[in-house]
Amino acid sequence: MRYDVKARPNLRSRVRGKHFIHGWYERSWASELFSETHCHLTRLNQDALGRAIAQAQKSGIELVLNAGGDPESSKLAIQNAREHPVIKACVGLHPWNAGRYSDEVLERLRELVRHPQVVAVSEIGLDYVGRMSSEGKFVNEFADREIQRNAFREQLNIAKKSGLPVIVHDRTPGQEVLDILEEEGSVATGVAIHGFSKDSTYAKRCVDMGVYLSIGLRAISSQDNEALKEIVKQVPLSWLLTETDSQNPEGVLIVAKKIAELKGLSTEHVGLTTTQNLRKLIRQHAH
Ligand SMILES: [Zn+2]
Repeated sequence: MRYDVKARPNLRSRVRGKHFIHGWYERSWASELFSETHCHLTRLNQDALGRAIAQAQKSGIELVLNAGGDPESSKLAIQNAREHPVIKACVGLHPWNAGRYSDEVLERLRELVRHPQVVAVSEIGLDYVGRMSSEGKFVNEFADREIQRNAFREQLNIAKKSGLPVIVHDRTPGQEVLDILEEEGSVATGVAIHGFSKDSTYAKRCVDMGVYLSIGLRAISSQDNEALKEIVKQVPLSWLLTETDSQNPEGVLIVAKKIAELKGLSTEHVGLTTTQNLRKLIRQHAH
């Protein structure tokens, strides 16, 4: 786990500028401080992507999972990952796009998961609330529940067969998503619930099942989030991840800071542990 500090002088000074705590690196110096479990960089043009990644790396973020939402954006996620090694790709059909579910789409996803840059199947899941329109407005419509369930289960199978974890979108009223994950045996290859916004019973079941909770920037920063704060306090840090669900991975530093405040830990410790958690989920252990 420990890095030879002398071998990485740039990293040491780079991190010192912003988050350095005296003596900390002596105890637990590792290759990454912070990580982004779920973001959407495929919407950025090349310049904007380069800037976002440079900024993220300057802040000590060394692992960024870039989600696809359909075959086209999944392909782009892989392309982004080829250009920037800090980025890892996720491929999947988002529940908002479940209307496009077909054998052909599944076949394309099966081909895409074979790329070496792909570390998870995402963004997949169920959504019975609504979706963001292409104009960026929230619309209260969603694809037929049965189609969503089929698309979800088929993609869980793709993940299982490829030995990949899934990062799941859940906007349903109960625990249907966890029931399906259990039925499909998905925990064996790893599961995280992204943008966690469910209740404490659900959170407890996740921990019992061995499912990670990825804490999002918007939810943890909102004023009206007492229930989520309580969950973050209760759930062991070993089951938490950080994400922005945005186009700016740097925001995970704020998530780590908020988690640290709630748990009475240092931001660096939270960053390091959640990054180790993410590495474990995607089976890329730091040496
Ligand atoms: Zn997302």
